[in-house]
Amino acid sequence: MIKNNLKTKILLTLSSVIFGVAMIVTMYNIIHDKEQNDIRMKEAYESVRLNYEETIHETVRFYAARANANMQSPDVLNAFISRDHDKLYALILPRWKVMQAENPSLSVMQFHNADGTSLLRMHQPAVYGDLIAAKRGMVAYIHKYHQTIFGFEEGRQGLAFRVLVPIVNGNVYVGAVEFGISAPFLTEKIYRYTAYNSFFLVRQDFLGTFAHIDRYFQIGEYKAIDVSPKLLPLLREYKSKHSVLENSILDHQHKTFAMTAVPVLNYLNQPMGAVMFIREVPDFWSHVMQMILAAALIALTLMITLGLIVARVYDEMTKKMNFQEMYNQTILDAIPSPIIVTDGDQLVAANQTFLEYLHYTSIEEFKRNHVCVCEYFEEGDTEDFLMPTLNDQRWTEYIIDHPLIHHKAKITMEGKTTIFDVKLSVFRFKEESRYVVIFTDISSIQSISVTDVLTGVANRLHFTMVYEHIINVTRREEYSLGIIFFDIDHFKQINDDYGHLTGDKILKYIAALVKQKIRKSDIVARWGGEEFVVLLPNTSLEETVLLAENLRSAIEQEHFEVVDKITCSFGVAALGENESGEALLKRADDLMYEAKERGRNRVIHALSNPL
Ligand code: GH3
Ligand code: MG
Ligand code: MG
Repeated sequence: MIKNNLKTKILLTLSSVIFGVAMIVTMYNIIHDKEQNDIRMKEAYESVRLNYEETIHETVRFYAARANANMQSPDVLNAFISRDHDKLYALILPRWKVMQAENPSLSVMQFHNADGTSLLRMHQPAVYGDLIAAKRGMVAYIHKYHQTIFGFEEGRQGLAFRVLVPIVNGNVYVGAVEFGISAPFLTEKIYRYTAYNSFFLVRQDFLGTFAHIDRYFQIGEYKAIDVSPKLLPLLREYKSKHSVLENSILDHQHKTFAMTAVPVLNYLNQPMGAVMFIREVPDFWSHVMQMILAAALIALTLMITLGLIVARVYDEMTKKMNFQEMYNQTILDAIPSPIIVTDGDQLVAANQTFLEYLHYTSIEEFKRNHVCVCEYFEEGDTEDFLMPTLNDQRWTEYIIDHPLIHHKAKITMEGKTTIFDVKLSVFRFKEESRYVVIFTDISSIQSISVTDVLTGVANRLHFTMVYEHIINVTRREEYSLGIIFFDIDHFKQINDDYGHLTGDKILKYIAALVKQKIRKSDIVARWGGEEFVVLLPNTSLEETVLLAENLRSAIEQEHFEVVDKITCSFGVAALGENESGEALLKRADDLMYEAKERGRNRVIHALSNPL
């Protein structure tokens, strides 16, 4: 559950980060998109302008070539020079028809004499001889400069794009050929090249005699000419929003159009009008929505992909961690010593050996019955063992604070007492501490070293170890301390008569008997051979004498196997003021020998030296 929460947390954080980044990137894109859009508009304008100019030049080149091709024929040239109107008409007519067929927008083909008169209008053959140069600037211009010129100009047929090409005979300028093409020719060409719709606008003051015509669509000082009917609704929309000619982004019938005007120059390079390009562009907001949608989609895809990866990796890691945990538990369980992990208060983990030792099947079961393993700790008779609290410290803290001491715990389970060596290591992570405690059973080592193997009572080594300590406590607490030395009488003889094994049995028996008759706080130890010492803390000489007497008669009255009767001789003393432990021992031993000398099976004591 906790682990799953963590997984959810990781996934949520990841999603938020992706979502946040997507939002920032999208906002950045939207802001920059506006800039990009402006750049795109400029680029679009440039390409539109170049296309328009290329279209114009292509048209000019094309009709200059047509003019020259016509004048290439000597018959045509001669008919022109001789101003033979009818002959020229007859010669050009088939060519005119071909040219009209190839371009239905070709509305004008006129031959101009160098004197400014019109020689022949193919589109209006009946009208000629008039002084056209006086009315038409372009005609006057070519007669003056003898150069190919082009541009929009009004004429009898209306406003048209005109190309005028000089006719030269030898080196002499003799006149000009003029082609007039209506605007749709150019707008169609532009559409073919760019897929942009377009229409032409002419400034009012360049329209001359056509300026008054109402059917032209007026925007500010411009009039739109030859507008395709399908563009008229858009144009009306434009007009409703703009009173002068300017570039615009226009929403029309749920679509967005960019309208870009490129200036149109006349033959004198005067801006006489404009060509307005129309192209559909994605609406800004729908574009923004598209971007947001795209960003959302990308973010979602990322979230799902990364989410799946994270979930997968997480699961793998948890599996690995679980595996690691199992692995650790297996190691712990394989160790034959009880091991626990505690947080100082509560048991966190334990190995199988620990649970088995205390007869529990699980940590949970243990916890239901106990708070701390230290509840099992027992006090020792002669030695210091761990207690739940020592010096007002918890046992764990006490171990940490006393690293040099050999810590031992005494636990009795089902009547069997075990002494454990207790080793503790601590590890801390942030605020939490964990104590790993290893209990090593040292009962056997402990008992071998301190117990007499034959009789099971304390050995001399153990006696001397606790002896000084008891002397110190006695002095500090101002207690009395009694001591009894006793030795089996004629034991050598018993061995000799009945054998060593019998002797051993008697030793064991007497030790057990004595042990049974003394208090728990008293100590009996085998001093050596068939000699024992009994130490009686907080016991007066009189009480010690009583006990010695009691022991003596008990042994005397005991019926032993094989040998029947056994007696012992006793020396009894109590710790004297300022007496050393060593001196006391010697005194008791001497008293015991005195008992031997005085006939054995008796208690000799030193009332002369009571505490
Ligand atoms: P006394 O009354 O003067 O004490 O005479 P004793 O024979 O008891 O004293 P002695 O010191 O001459 O002999 C002690 C004997 O105790 C010698 C030894 O064979 C015997 N002994 C010492 N330790 C053991 C033991 O562990 N097992 C057996 N069976 N005999 C032991
Ligand atoms: Mg002896
Ligand atoms: Mg003896």
